[in-house]
Amino acid sequence: MRHISLLVVHHSESPGGDLAFIRYCHTAPKPKGNGWNDVGYHYTIGNGLPHGEWNACQDGEVETGRKHSVVGAHARGFNAHSLGICLIGHFDQTHPTARQLTALTHLLTILCEMYDLDPLDDIKGHGQLMPSKCPGKNLTSLMNCVRMAVSARMKVRKQVRSILHLEGT
Ligand SMILES: [Zn+2]
Repeated sequence: MRHISLLVVHHSESPGGDLAFIRYCHTAPKPKGNGWNDVGYHYTIGNGLPHGEWNACQDGEVETGRKHSVVGAHARGFNAHSLGICLIGHFDQTHPTARQLTALTHLLTILCEMYDLDPLDDIKGHGQLMPSKCPGKNLTSLMNCVRMAVSARMKVRKQVRSILHLEGT
């Protein structure tokens, strides 16, 4: 299994769209797209809005891009040991939806448990790793709340597992 030590949150900088749209942007030949062999992210989370001819993904729906075993293309210098999660939207102009934030919190909780990560240290916005405005000011300003929500959720889940004697199962 690939060693994962970092979960990196992005925005799509598009008003809407779905994973297929992002995959098109990443795989279309240059200069239209990036010319990559697949979408660069491991997950996208839709906002319910379409983008041009591209369909909307349901608000808060998580779509799967690259497999965890495959190195992503989303944070240069940090791809080898990270997973990339992209919320659809341009969060310098709009805000992530409540459903997107709920889905993000659930997804990050599961991933932190899966890879034994500390949500307060190991969840980063793209712009924390390098000079980038991603994931936009309106999501960047929420990232601490997201980290704390994941941390709280993990504690509750740990308590419940121990009450139910499910530890290690
Ligand atoms: Zn980014």
